[in-house]
Amino acid sequence: MSRIRSPEPQDIAPRLLPWFSCNRRDLPWRHTRDPYRIWVAEVMLQQTQVERVIPFYQRFVKGFPTVADLAAAPLDEVLRHWAGLGYYARARSLHAACRALIGRNGGTVPGDYSEFVALPGVGAYTAGAVLSIAFGQRHPALDANARRVFARVFHRRGESLAARRRIERAGKAAVPVKRPGEYNQALMELGSLVCAPREPKCDVCCLADLCRACHLGVADSVPRPRRTRTRRSRAAMAIVRRRRRILIAQRPPEGVWGGLWEFPNVELADNGDPSAALRCVLRQEFGLDVEIGPELGRLTYGIMNRRIDLTVYGASVLGGRTRPRWHEAARWICPDHLNGYALPAPHARVAKLVSRTRSG
Ligand code: SF4
Repeated sequence: MSRIRSPEPQDIAPRLLPWFSCNRRDLPWRHTRDPYRIWVAEVMLQQTQVERVIPFYQRFVKGFPTVADLAAAPLDEVLRHWAGLGYYARARSLHAACRALIGRNGGTVPGDYSEFVALPGVGAYTAGAVLSIAFGQRHPALDANARRVFARVFHRRGESLAARRRIERAGKAAVPVKRPGEYNQALMELGSLVCAPREPKCDVCCLADLCRACHLGVADSVPRPRRTRTRRSRAAMAIVRRRRRILIAQRPPEGVWGGLWEFPNVELADNGDPSAALRCVLRQEFGLDVEIGPELGRLTYGIMNRRIDLTVYGASVLGGRTRPRWHEAARWICPDHLNGYALPAPHARVAKLVSRTRSG
């Protein structure tokens, strides 16, 4: 039985860079060295797939072409450009970071690691990616794809702190002095296109001769898959009408969907009555007495590790004065103006339902 020698971190770049030269995808953020645009792309790419990011990235950098443009824009406007991409804390942090840069150094993205990593929302990964790609500095950028490649090449199955530290040490040592930005992109690209979470394509992988997990025939089970349990729940939503307008409310700036606008809604207890729960929420949270009308539609959406079955109802106001308690603001708007507001993706789907209901 043949034995393979233990891989060394510095063995990776000489195999990876030629592979990347032939296999790199043509992506819009790869046509620039502008650190701001690379930063925007890296933030958008966190927890989101490349194909999904492309149209959002193009729209965002068109709307806010520089740090100064983003810093000058109201947060509402920024969230509107981000709406549908999810994980809105990323947009809030990026906006806050650009505002901080205007105050500090006239809107220039810092080329200094400790200065950059001190900005809101910037962690080791973002700083490493931006500084290596835009400035050619030698920093690792270990996203989930890159970590998976390292876990497999060095056969680190566990998720313990010690295992993660070993991967980080190897990741740091592996960054070459020349072309560190391309190397980081190559590693992520390999993790995305070849060394996928399931069914890695070891037979075409440029690291196959090094890879311990491949040689041991266990690539599929490294790193050990995390157990996540999806919780199912029910929710109800009201499209509350008064004269020809409908009610929307803005969520507080922090937390899930922070700063976005939504239709009044409530999560239901097991066997909870949607009409009673919606009446209660509209009275307590908005100061309104309403009559809940017919069901307008249903949809299911996911958020974090939850699947939510949502039923949408029409509602009309019987009395009261609109006074939001938990929300930042509430507005009665013409349904035609809904696209001027940043709505979370499921609420945007409901907005389409509202316009279909009106035109139907
Ligand atoms: S050989 Fe297989 S498991 Fe190893 S890095 Fe390549 S694709 Fe991943």
